[in-house]
Amino acid sequence: MPLIPGLRVVRSSVHGYGVVATRDFAEGDLMADIEGVTWREGEWWDDTYTLRITDAVSFDMVDQTRWINHSCSANAEIDLGLDEHGQPWAKLYAWRDIAAGEEVTYDYEFPAELAERCSCGSPGCRKWIVREEDLARVVAMRGA
Ligand SMILES: [Zn+2]
Repeated sequence: MPLIPGLRVVRSSVHGYGVVATRDFAEGDLMADIEGVTWREGEWWDDTYTLRITDAVSFDMVDQTRWINHSCSANAEIDLGLDEHGQPWAKLYAWRDIAAGEEVTYDYEFPAELAERCSCGSPGCRKWIVREEDLARVVAMRGA
């Protein structure tokens, strides 16, 4: 598996490992066509670095994108889906201009049942890693 150019795994100031841009990206740029392994409902897998494509299909990222941290003010986003053969795909896009040296982040948007405390440190931090529409429910159940 070749390394994706423009992305480097480093120790992160946010959490554990992270990924920095090694060149500038413009808003909307395709940053990575993500390499992953497919897992289907009923199989066991380590879901730590897994994208949930549908309720029944997950995609375990196996390239540098695996190490991208969450941020509530992310500078990148992941677009994902199933192709016509039912195979998952996922692509990383620049959400805004990203300068070389900046840490790359995306919003994990976990569903309420998988919500985790957030300490991303961004000014707009929601205090929970959860998708926007589930935030109020998580705060009501588990605290602000
Ligand atoms: Zn946050």
